[in-house]
Amino acid sequence: MGKVLIIGAGGVGTVVAHKVAQNADIFTEVMIASRTKAKCDAIVKAIGRPDIQTAQVDADNVAELVALFNSFRPDIVINVALPYQDLTIMEACLETGTHYLDTANYEPKDEAHFEYSWQWAYHDRYRQSGLTAILGCGFDPGVSGIFTAYAAKHYFDEIHYLDIVDCNAGDHGKAFATNFNPEINIREITQKGKYYEAGHWVETSSLEIHQPITYPNIGARESYLLYHEELESLVKHFPTIKRARFWMTFGQEYLTHLRVIQNIGMARIDEVDYNGTKIVPIQFLKAVLPNPQELGENYTGETSIGCRIRGIKDGKERTYYIYNNCSHQAAYKETGMQAVSYTTGVPAMIGAKLFLEGKWVRSGVNNVEQFDPDPFMLELNKQGLPWHEVKDKDLEL
Ligand code: NDP
Repeated sequence: MGKVLIIGAGGVGTVVAHKVAQNADIFTEVMIASRTKAKCDAIVKAIGRPDIQTAQVDADNVAELVALFNSFRPDIVINVALPYQDLTIMEACLETGTHYLDTANYEPKDEAHFEYSWQWAYHDRYRQSGLTAILGCGFDPGVSGIFTAYAAKHYFDEIHYLDIVDCNAGDHGKAFATNFNPEINIREITQKGKYYEAGHWVETSSLEIHQPITYPNIGARESYLLYHEELESLVKHFPTIKRARFWMTFGQEYLTHLRVIQNIGMARIDEVDYNGTKIVPIQFLKAVLPNPQELGENYTGETSIGCRIRGIKDGKERTYYIYNNCSHQAAYKETGMQAVSYTTGVPAMIGAKLFLEGKWVRSGVNNVEQFDPDPFMLELNKQGLPWHEVKDKDLEL
């Protein structure tokens, strides 16, 4: 049915490739391209589908991307490289008439700051070219926005309060490791917190607000208020929202390591001179930390991510909680990767599948909640991320 090019051969790229291969009736031709071709080849070997092509590409370089797209001619690119590459890949898609999907919004390398403005600025050009761009199609962002759109469509006339709750109750047995790219992860967590209330953004210091939240099949876990990118698009697309927040769990051991990393300057993103060589401390740190892709084998426990929503339906106040729990071991058995990569890669594949099936086609630059959530919700149940609903119970928040 369609040709897909996956860019990025990390934890998430590996899961996307496995799931694309499982849906071979839709993805009839596949290429994986990344900075290191050997990593793409290793994924193809693990999947056992020698017909999947691989290529080396520097995704910071538009001309290289354009040459690759012109030679393979994909219908859609799934960008699971790093957020730094979003704009160059979007630019190359425009130049070559290729549709686009990603899982994380653009961040400049020299500033730990993410917002949609840079990518939304491409909207008119994508619309005029008849191209679909699907932004933020992982789990959060991604399924978090689709859950919200599903709640808005089926259960609420107005959503008033939205809390996205993300718990990783897994244990990988390491003193300290991040579950996806350490540089991106540490930049995200160490920035100031922020949430939306009564039409304004309220800023907090990093990890200042926290409380225990009870997660299904897991129990109560201390959860910290963070800024997360989908809050920006969700309050824009659901303007009845009065307050929107994002919570993530962290263990004490993790937070102690993080504090030390920050205090000793290892989270710095500017260049320092080391014996005449310029190094960026956080990039050096990435080189010595455990590789997130290698955590899977001994990872036990599960993730639980969902949306807790309060609003009104037919004049009555209603509450709604929708979530998915994902086992690290089950994810590892299927794809060789842990649940954080799995919960990101599966939705990315589903978004591309729905695009190729003509169910998620919309010229312009779109966040996931702008599409019909129903076909996506059906696919989540079929593709390994089943969801559950709790209606009219206490949300704790
Ligand atoms: P990894 O660091 O494991 O993988 C990133 C891949 O991109 C690597 O293969 C890397 O190459 C490649 N890459 C980096 N720079 C370039 C470049 N200039 N040109 C070509 N390839 C490049 O990251 P993850 O797989 O953990 O994460 C992938 C994406 O998913 C990130 O954007 C992350 O923010 C996002 N994410 C989204 C989530 C969500 O729920 N929405 C959750 C988790 C992650 P090399 O192997 O050579 O280093």
